[in-house]
Amino acid sequence: MKFDAEEFKANLTARLRRQYGKDFSQATKHDLFDAVSASALEIIMPNWMETRREYEAKETRQLYYLSAEFLMGRALSNNLINSGIMEGVKGVLKELNVNIDMIEDEEPDAGLGNGGLGRLAACFLDSLATLEYPGHGYGIRYEYGMFEQHIIDGQQVEFPDNWLKHRDPWEVKRSDLSVTVRFGGDIKYGKTPDGQDRFYIENAEEIIATPYDMPVVGFGCNTVNTLRLWQASSPNGFDLQLFNDSQYQRAVERQNNAENISRVLYPNDNGPMGKELRLRQQYFFTSASLQDLIRQFVIQHGTDFSQFPKYHVIQLNDTHPVVAIPELMRILIDEYNVGWDNAWSVVQKTFAYTNHTILAEALEKWPIEIFQRLLPRVYQIVEEINRRFVIELRQKFPEDYYNQNHMAIIHDGKVYMAWLAIHSCFSVNGVAELHTKILKEQELKNWAVIYPEKFNNKTNGVTQRRWLLCSNPELAEFITKRIGHGWEKDLSLLKGLEKFADDDATLEELISIKHHNKERLAEYLKHAQNEFLDPDSIFDTQVKRLHEYKRQLLNVLHIMYLYNKIVEDPTYNPPARTFIFGAKAASGYRRAKAIIKLINSVADRVNNDRRVGGKLRVVFVENYRVSVAEKIIPASDVSEQISTAGYEASGTSNMKFMMNGALTLGTLDGANIEIVEEAGQENAFIFGLTSDEIIKINEEHSYNPQKYLDRSPALAKVVRQLVDGTYDSTGHLFEEIHNSLVYGVEGQRADIYYILADFDAYVKAQEKVAAAYADKKGWARKALLNIANSGKFSSDRTIEDYVRDIWKLQKVNIK
Ligand SMILES: *Cc1c(COP(=O)(O)O)cnc(C)c1O
Repeated sequence: MKFDAEEFKANLTARLRRQYGKDFSQATKHDLFDAVSASALEIIMPNWMETRREYEAKETRQLYYLSAEFLMGRALSNNLINSGIMEGVKGVLKELNVNIDMIEDEEPDAGLGNGGLGRLAACFLDSLATLEYPGHGYGIRYEYGMFEQHIIDGQQVEFPDNWLKHRDPWEVKRSDLSVTVRFGGDIKYGKTPDGQDRFYIENAEEIIATPYDMPVVGFGCNTVNTLRLWQASSPNGFDLQLFNDSQYQRAVERQNNAENISRVLYPNDNGPMGKELRLRQQYFFTSASLQDLIRQFVIQHGTDFSQFPKYHVIQLNDTHPVVAIPELMRILIDEYNVGWDNAWSVVQKTFAYTNHTILAEALEKWPIEIFQRLLPRVYQIVEEINRRFVIELRQKFPEDYYNQNHMAIIHDGKVYMAWLAIHSCFSVNGVAELHTKILKEQELKNWAVIYPEKFNNKTNGVTQRRWLLCSNPELAEFITKRIGHGWEKDLSLLKGLEKFADDDATLEELISIKHHNKERLAEYLKHAQNEFLDPDSIFDTQVKRLHEYKRQLLNVLHIMYLYNKIVEDPTYNPPARTFIFGAKAASGYRRAKAIIKLINSVADRVNNDRRVGGKLRVVFVENYRVSVAEKIIPASDVSEQISTAGYEASGTSNMKFMMNGALTLGTLDGANIEIVEEAGQENAFIFGLTSDEIIKINEEHSYNPQKYLDRSPALAKVVRQLVDGTYDSTGHLFEEIHNSLVYGVEGQRADIYYILADFDAYVKAQEKVAAAYADKKGWARKALLNIANSGKFSSDRTIEDYVRDIWKLQKVNIK
């Protein structure tokens, strides 16, 4: 994009004056962040408008990525880099004695997601725009995103994330495009004014959905796509009638109830979601998005909806937006008088579904009572889809009453959203090879029998623009110096780094870059939470949501084991290690919160024991989020990816670490398998049971965790230390964790995530890590080979896979 320094400066000055009544000398860092962002948006705006015009003029097929979560992080640096004006802006700011890093930190993360699923949506948008595909996001403008995590006395305490406290300079409110979303009411059948017999709803509660658009700037091209987020409000605003009737309280309540729909993101990752407000959120944003699409379609193409799939493909990010399926049926049938079969044919050609997990507790099912009360007409349509499907099921599984019942979209008093998706969509994909295989052979076996053609794999990816170019500028320069530009848009070019694997100067430089990044992280943590990190120690990192299947507990037990060893044997001299954790626990997930407390208790003890003498340090980074990930990942040596095999669908932080030259210490789970395939076994540390072994043990009910405790006194000791007062003088804080490992609690059997079974193998793998790190050059060589072979894990590759197999989009070049 064109950059005129004088014009930018003038714009900046005008903004500061108009918005804040200040000149440069009076502006705060935050004022500057806001004014720089707004001035940058001004430069981006012509391309944004031109992109929209081109898509309309070309009448091209467009993708809509429906997702309840977009974990965008910060926009400023990313947008400056992608639009190619970073250097220009830096130059202007330098003249004014302002460092871009200073104002960068003023931007709150757009934390509109929990973890991997939401971040994937954000990476996909970046790749779509960069590859010049017409693809947009639709979601919810949560007033409060992912909660802010504070650690108080070692415990997680949640605070509201008021990210919109100041205005967001990147969003554009489009009140002109507001739509109405209806809840509840009574189903009626009768003649409409134009003489048609139709269903309609009376006495519905009406909610206004107002879109806020954010630009999605492609790198090295003129494409600027749109992320459209819906905000809820009451149609009448404050109800004056109620107010005049002296019902002030009720008048406020009504307004609040409407606004509550987009108030707050549910902080459950891979967890249960049974709340009514959650279903309201899902219907709210999917209905608004479909109304938006259909309004545009009717203006451009009229009401021949058989043409709808020619221009639209909708990807459903997990089951969260699946209610869009019956909603599109409803709109076509009730509002445009399309017959059932024609409407169904449109739906089947429009929607594709991505499955993100096999964890039973995360598969959404809504009690009929809630669904029907909230969405009576939509429920009726789901019933009809189900009625027709059950007839097919009887033919497909004539004697098999289990499948006839279990695969029904409605059964046992609930609506099964994944079943609705698989039955209705033309594509069902998993997010890594292993995950898709498990779906086809285990979890969704019977679905793969009736719909084999629907199932396909799309291994996740991450954008190298954010996760290398923005977050690790030194490494980016190191790469460009050796293989030139081009890798920013084609990550497979990194392969060209392989020929430097035995070049001493290259390895020295790589070591020094990692060291700088470690120093920078240390500096940040000193200021942020008064932690002292030794950049010469191994930075061994596990950052991700706190979940039992991700096994942060295995990591902690190993640290407790190392600590025992160091204390028991003063001659034991392992390389200095810093164990870094970052993780938020769902606010209602008691055991996950206890694990956070355990990490902090272990940190407290280990970090304050003189006998440890710098060999071991444990750091829990508060409030893990995208902007913190961008600091931690480039500084890490070891990437902990230690989930129970078969449970992590893909993982994406494993890919970010690989790109940044960290070595994977992991199980054969999710995309780790493909990472090791690319990087080479010898450049990673793989351990533990395989998913096949775990499936077998599960089927045979043959797991005996006690065996492992009997066999390993060192393991028995750390497990005992959970309750013997070593880490908690009351002896009770970690009792539940202990019991879940040793006895099983709440009807679960002991150690359902095979922590004790994998412990020895993990210890051995960690010993290999320590030994390998002693050879600095050898380690750097492995790191370089990881970087060189990370090309597959660009979300650009993932998007090209989706485009080829599912979306069938054409690139649109924006002039
Ligand atoms: C990438 C990312 C995740 C996903 O991490 P996994 O280890 O793949 O679960 C979660 N949170 C943030 C902030 C991320 O950037």
